[in-house]
Amino acid sequence: MFSGLVYIEEDILTHPGTLQILSKLANPQVVPIKHYKDVFNQAGSDWRLQKAAQKIILASRRSHFYYQGSDITPAFGFKHFYYNTLALNCVYDCDYCYLQGMFSSAHLVLFVNNDDFMEQTKVLLQQLQEPVYLALSYDTDLLAIEHWYPYCKEWIAFASEQTNLTIEIRTKSINIKALQPIKPADNIILAWTLSPQEVINLHEPKTPSAQSRIAAIKKAVEQGWRVRICFDPILHIPNAEMAYMKLVDELASQIQLTSIDSFSLGVFRMNQDFLKRMQHQRKDSALLFHVFEKTDDTVSYAKDIKKKLIDVVTNRITHHEKRAHIVIL
Ligand code: SF4
Repeated sequence: MFSGLVYIEEDILTHPGTLQILSKLANPQVVPIKHYKDVFNQAGSDWRLQKAAQKIILASRRSHFYYQGSDITPAFGFKHFYYNTLALNCVYDCDYCYLQGMFSSAHLVLFVNNDDFMEQTKVLLQQLQEPVYLALSYDTDLLAIEHWYPYCKEWIAFASEQTNLTIEIRTKSINIKALQPIKPADNIILAWTLSPQEVINLHEPKTPSAQSRIAAIKKAVEQGWRVRICFDPILHIPNAEMAYMKLVDELASQIQLTSIDSFSLGVFRMNQDFLKRMQHQRKDSALLFHVFEKTDDTVSYAKDIKKKLIDVVTNRITHHEKRAHIVIL
């Protein structure tokens, strides 16, 4: 649990969302600020030092209530793919997280005006009049912070009342209990990122174990949620083949793979400028110093490595379930 300084924009000191979050924190010491960027965008911040003493910043979003997905984001067959940023940064600390290259600060920004995000989404839906896929947990892990503010619950309730809106909540959290007693709906996808325990031990500090993620997925499936499993990023670690095969076998031993809506597979890939910044901060992570190949602005493994990693996971899934719906990114 966070304690200590909480920066809060002075306009929202008494906002209900602010009060709700403050009530969940132990001994918060409030520091009023004018705008979240005054703290978040400070030049010369040391990302790793900030991460070690991560603070919460409560803010109000005044514009940019959603963004259109880029070419390297999966659109899952939707013509209109959007994401929003209800929070910036994450309580976990994955070595490969692009947020380290994207933001100059590691502090966690939570936007308390969730209603405005939903209102603006309604406007977007009215304008488009066509199905929209909206990824919520994009620059963060929302389910992991659901105990501070019920973003997921509020969005599930909102999406249940919309036609033309499918939402995705991507997570590594096992906090499925936080969603009870909400009724699953067809336009809500819970997407779990799953990694071999070897990857979690080395590269995904603070995240739940593979076993506990599989247990959470199992519960979600039993409760009737649409679940996507994301093997993404697949990492080229020593003995990767064995590690990913074992992971898929474990998953298949616990869960009927036909009950999984889809599997999305992608190897490590990254905007090259983000990677440069990350390499500067994360000299401790060999993962980021692989000899990558560059295509346009994106770096990733060489083609043969990519193919090998994707084939291993694909073949192991289809070994257990030929009809599995696999999306390769
Ligand atoms: S869980 Fe996702 S958002 Fe959070 S640190 Fe890991 S990669 Fe980044």
